[in-house]
Amino acid sequence: MILFRKKTDFQTYLTTQKQRGKKIGFVPTMGALHQGHVSLIESSRKDNSITVSSIFVNPTQFNDPNDFKKYPVTIENDINKLEAAGCEVLFMPSVEEIYPDGVPSDLKYDLGYLETILEGKYRPGHFQGVCMVVHRLLDIVKPDNLYLGQKDYQQCMVIRRLIELTGHTEIKLNICPTFREPDGLAMSSRNLRLNEEERKTAPAIYRALLHIKENLPKGDLLSLKESAVKKLIDNRLKPDYIEIADADTLKPISKWNAGQKLVALAAAYLGEVRLIDNLVLN
Ligand code: AMP
Repeated sequence: MILFRKKTDFQTYLTTQKQRGKKIGFVPTMGALHQGHVSLIESSRKDNSITVSSIFVNPTQFNDPNDFKKYPVTIENDINKLEAAGCEVLFMPSVEEIYPDGVPSDLKYDLGYLETILEGKYRPGHFQGVCMVVHRLLDIVKPDNLYLGQKDYQQCMVIRRLIELTGHTEIKLNICPTFREPDGLAMSSRNLRLNEEERKTAPAIYRALLHIKENLPKGDLLSLKESAVKKLIDNRLKPDYIEIADADTLKPISKWNAGQKLVALAAAYLGEVRLIDNLVLN
């Protein structure tokens, strides 16, 4: 695997590879890699001649400075995992490399209602930060294929919008399924911060979503959401939200017509760690 830290060297390499007709797949990450990330690398390797991954803990997307400070860093392990997965190139820039002029304060991506619901509502500014970094990374890499995890469902929709807004419409967005632990917990870098007791309780978030999926045809959606919230609270999770939404637009749904594709989304704190998960329902 080739490691680049400077964008000019990286771009020179990419230009040469593109001139040789190589197809580029791109998997952006914040490191602390797990099997979920590896599954994205594997998807990219199937479709492309070169798979590029990036590790960059982007300060501008953390609305909580404490979350940024405590974000797990496991570089050596990450490099080993990427190499074992057959990733050809790693881009690992510094903050100065990505934001040479500091963080722009006037830049604003028009994300519409996506920014005011769910993660947007509970993490103000988060998606602007995500767009800021992904915009820069896409400008640098200009991949043929971009791979994102469905684990971050709303983020996928935000990036779909970003691709339209920035005119990078030649990039194909590939959304990959959520990789889970055997007990159902969605793999996440933040799981490393759970203590033993919390780790045992954490799959309650997945079970609450399963409860919604299994009872969808029976219940009215409001009481279904209420019973799912109770399941979280009974397991000492503190929910920010559990929502049932249209799977394509993410607009919250109060009344279901059987033809509509739905997704249930949840975010909850377990101690200091904020977990998110989602499940497509039908
Ligand atoms: P992160 O390092 O958390 O920013 O994630 C980098 C990419 O990996 C994002 O596109 C995530 O949605 C994706 N990802 C994170 N966890 C999982 C998972 N459990 N299964 C599949 N993809 C994931």
